[in-house]
Amino acid sequence: MAPPPRMLLLGAGLSGGLLALALAELGVEVELAGGSLADSATGWSYGGVPWWAGAANPLGELLATAPRRWDQLQQRHGELGLRPAKLWLHWPEQAPPQAVAKVQQALAGLPQQPELTALSAHEAIEQEPLLAGADLGGVMQLPYWRVDPLAFQQGLERAWAAAGVQRCAPLPADELRQRLEQGEAVVLCSGAATLALLKAMGLQTPSALDFSWAGVGQCDGAQLAAERIVMPLLGQRSGRETAASGAAVICDPGLAPAPGGGLLVGQTSWFDRPIDDPPPVDEDLEQLSGVQSRLVPSLIESSHGPLRLQQQPVAYSRDQQPLLGPLPGCPNLSLFTGFGGPFALVPALTPLMAQALVTNDWSQIKGLGLLCR
Ligand SMILES: Cc1cc2nc3c(=O)[nH]c(=O)nc-3n(C[C@H](O)[C@H](O)[C@H](O)COP(=O)(O)OP(=O)(O)OC[C@H]3O[C@@H](n4cnc5c(N)ncnc54)[C@H](O)[C@@H]3O)c2cc1C
Repeated sequence: MAPPPRMLLLGAGLSGGLLALALAELGVEVELAGGSLADSATGWSYGGVPWWAGAANPLGELLATAPRRWDQLQQRHGELGLRPAKLWLHWPEQAPPQAVAKVQQALAGLPQQPELTALSAHEAIEQEPLLAGADLGGVMQLPYWRVDPLAFQQGLERAWAAAGVQRCAPLPADELRQRLEQGEAVVLCSGAATLALLKAMGLQTPSALDFSWAGVGQCDGAQLAAERIVMPLLGQRSGRETAASGAAVICDPGLAPAPGGGLLVGQTSWFDRPIDDPPPVDEDLEQLSGVQSRLVPSLIESSHGPLRLQQQPVAYSRDQQPLLGPLPGCPNLSLFTGFGGPFALVPALTPLMAQALVTNDWSQIKGLGLLCR
């Protein structure tokens, strides 16, 4: 009998973690290299599942299956931290009404037709007392799901052990090069580190792949009144990601439950910085303190203490399509990275990615326009 196929996955975050389980289910012997989720974008993510965000095309339809996919994953592997939630998209009092109306129209036209509820500033503060005193013009509420990163990590570790996934330490580029030269099949699920790894091995880097440094402020003791994520209706991050150039740093005023409890305040995104040089702590904290004073001023006066900064690099794709499959010119090295809205995309795409890796038939991934380029 032929031995089971073997694969080495680099990166034990959301993408590597779920791909490892999907491959193990197909009978692949999986070695998963990487450290703790606390050292990844996944570990500090808001964890929101934007299942309704896709266009009217096959990828959008796949994205809409995300809540069902998470549910199936939990039925198979046990608790993975999925919680029903709401997304609140807020705008400040002085926001240009035409800009607000334009986004509201776009939301009303989403092909998945999520239920939209408009809340006045007064109604929002009544439901969410943390927002008392905030610069708030109003809120649009959408249905959402959230994955708590701490519960996700605990669930993944149990699931990997049960599925026989072998864990090992992060792999340096020279060791990775040796393993590739020995003909091993490798998948990079290494998020923002992917570009540096490819460069260190002298390999071609996909032009669409990039990363930013994210900063969030952690506030212990404070809690949102319900399972919800608060984000700006006129957020800047995705526009900046697709622009060829622009501000070196942007700050989107948001609130989310912190992993395992507490509150995350704001999200900065720093562009065009090296992977080994996180943004200056003082400047990052200054941006996030600005969010705190505009969105949750009550916390400044209370005794919750100063914000603690968490910084993580996050991969994205400049054309907003993730990169899946063999790196051109290097058939035994595949990528699984560059996601926008990965908490919806990754669980929906992992079965297809795992199947393609096992059969070497990439037609479905190509049909979705996601083949590595
Ligand atoms: C503040 C914040 C809020 C966010 N909110 C949302 C949200 O609401 N919804 C959403 O969908 N997305 C959100 N995101 C984005 C999302 O969290 C990330 O895009 C996603 O978690 C990336 O997952 P990943 O597994 O691809 O990469 P990562 O989570 O970055 O994991 C990559 C892993 O690879 C490891 N690695 C690197 N080099 C090596 C090596 N040589 N060997 C082994 N391992 C290696 C890294 O250490 C890391 O652990 C948010 C991100 C941040 C920072």
